Parts: sequence; C-alpha cells; structure tokens
Amino acid sequence: MQIAKALTTAKVPNPSAYKNAHGLTTRHFDSDPYHWNANTVVHILERREYTGCTVNFKTYTNSTWDKKQRDNPEENWAVFENAHPEIISPEVFEKVQEIRKQRHRRTRTGKSSMFSGLVYCEDCGAKMRYCTTKDFEKRQDHFVCGSYRSNTGNCTARFIRAVVLEQLVLNNLQVVISYVTAHENYFRQVMTEKMSLKSAEIVKSAKRKLAQKEKRLAELDRLFIKIYEDNVSAKLSDERFAMMSEQYEDEQAQLRKDISELQTKIAEQERQTENLELFIKRARKYEGLTELTPYALRELVKAIYVENPDKSSGKRKQKIRIQYDLIGFIPINELLQAEKQRETA
Ligand SMILES: [Zn+2]
Repeated sequence: MQIAKALTTAKVPNPSAYKNAHGLTTRHFDSDPYHWNANTVVHILERREYTGCTVNFKTYTNSTWDKKQRDNPEENWAVFENAHPEIISPEVFEKVQEIRKQRHRRTRTGKSSMFSGLVYCEDCGAKMRYCTTKDFEKRQDHFVCGSYRSNTGNCTARFIRAVVLEQLVLNNLQVVISYVTAHENYFRQVMTEKMSLKSAEIVKSAKRKLAQKEKRLAELDRLFIKIYEDNVSAKLSDERFAMMSEQYEDEQAQLRKDISELQTKIAEQERQTENLELFIKRARKYEGLTELTPYALRELVKAIYVENPDKSSGKRKQKIRIQYDLIGFIPINELLQAEKQRETA
C-alpha cells in the first residue's frame, strides 16, 4: 500500500496506462493513469518471472468441458530458470517474499519500525510487538513480548526500548562485520565446521554414488522389459516372471529412495556453502557500517532474540542474540576470545 501511494504521488504511469501508451490491449481501464492499486504492486512483487525464469502451470482447468481457470498450488508449478534476462536478482526477490510473509503491521499512528517482525522473546519464543503512540517520543517506543501482552502466556514482562534495540543490533553487526572482513579465512573455517558442511571431496563422492544409482535404475527398466518379453514369448515361466519382477520392483523402490535422499543432501550442502559465501560477501559490502538502514538489516539479520535484562549490577543490562541471515548464529564471543589468545601466543 505504501509503495502504491508513493507511485501515485510520483505520477508514475500504472501498467494499463503504460500498455495504452504503447498500443497494447489491456483488460482494465483506469480513468486515472497515475492511480496505483495495492494489488497491482503485490502482483509485481510476487512475479517470479522477473527473475528471468518462466513459470508454467500457474493455473489449470479441470477438463475440456470445464474451462474455468483455477489456481494451481505453487509446488505444482514448473519453473524454468534463466529463460530470459532477469530484471530482479533472485536474491532480492526471495528477500521480498520473506518480508511479505511476515505480517508487517503498521501502527495506527502511521509510525513503523524496521525491526517489526524480526524481534522475538528469548524466554517464550513469541514475537515481540512494536508499541508506540502519537505522544511517545522516539525514545519511548518499545517492543513487548506478544504472549505477555495477550495475557494468555505466562511470560514475564519482556520489554526493550526501540532505541536500545537499534544500538545493540548496530553494535553486534559492527563487531561481526569487522571480524569477518579481518579474518575471513578463519571465519569460513569455523562456520564450515559449525554448519557441519562437508568438504568438496565428500560432496563429489555423494555425486558419484548418485550417478551409479541412477544408472542402475535405468538398467532395471531395461531388464524388466527383457523379462517381460521373455515371459510373453514363453521363454520365462509366469511364476519365475512374477518372482523376478517383484525383486526388481523392490530394488527400484529402494533405489528411488536412496536417490532422493542423496539429491536432498547434495543440494543442501551446496546451498549452505553458497549461503556462507554470500554472507561473507554481504559483510564485506557493509564494511564500515555506521548507521542501520532497513535494507542492511534485512540483508544481514533473520531474527533477534531479546534476553531478560540483568539487573544484578543495579543497572538494567540487556542482551540480544542475533540469528544472521543465511548462516544462523555466529559464536562471535568465542571467535573474539580465540583471536585474543592467538595474539598473545
Ligand atoms: Zn515472552
């Protein structure tokens, strides 16, 4: 809605006006060429084709008699990557889908926080809600544990001020970014171990195994045709045929299961390795970060967990734990500790 409003204000021609101007037919007619609907924007944001792929079977019809188009669930779509040049990078596209999944509620005051949807209570795991009023000064805006506020949970008053949160997140990011950029190789090594990433050698051997199993599966298909023909031409008794075909089917079922497991494992390994490299690239991109922007936040952070404040020193000390985008938690304190030891050694 906010994007639609901004486009309307900026007098950007909407899609039907654009089509009209270029002599293309359009189903919709809008008397105001600059009026943007929120739905139009949603449509554009969710259109995977912009990443350069072709998406087929988004709708289906029941039969030739019933031609009504029905929406096909996403898992039934056929996606062909790199079918045409991309205008949106897949990375940005996925990020947008992720943001849209989190219900980003704007408060009645019109104020919103870039942290909305990202903050969780460490105690009970509930999302923390952004609270603000018109009369609040910025420093009074805060997040409060959802289950505390609804009175359904029994969470103690978990609460953090938005300015405190921002400062803590920025500090954390600065420490991580400067560590990653200064000790990239060591960081990669530690995270590889932590994410239990397999070496390229192990992935290669899994791929070899996969190829063998796929070969055997194709072989079984041929063997099956062979015994079938032998059975038809009476070279193989019905009894023997039944026994052998049952054996083949069992082996095939096992092979299919093994193949799918191997494929999943390989894909996951490759994706995780890719994710780690992508995270390092992003950390480099934000080297010297001094101010948190919503996009930097989304590119680096997946979730923020707020711990109970420690008041033992008489002062309210609050800690957060950041789950980073792509790679999860980073054992930054241990990394820094190890660094200190290496320096003194
Ligand atoms: Zn809680």
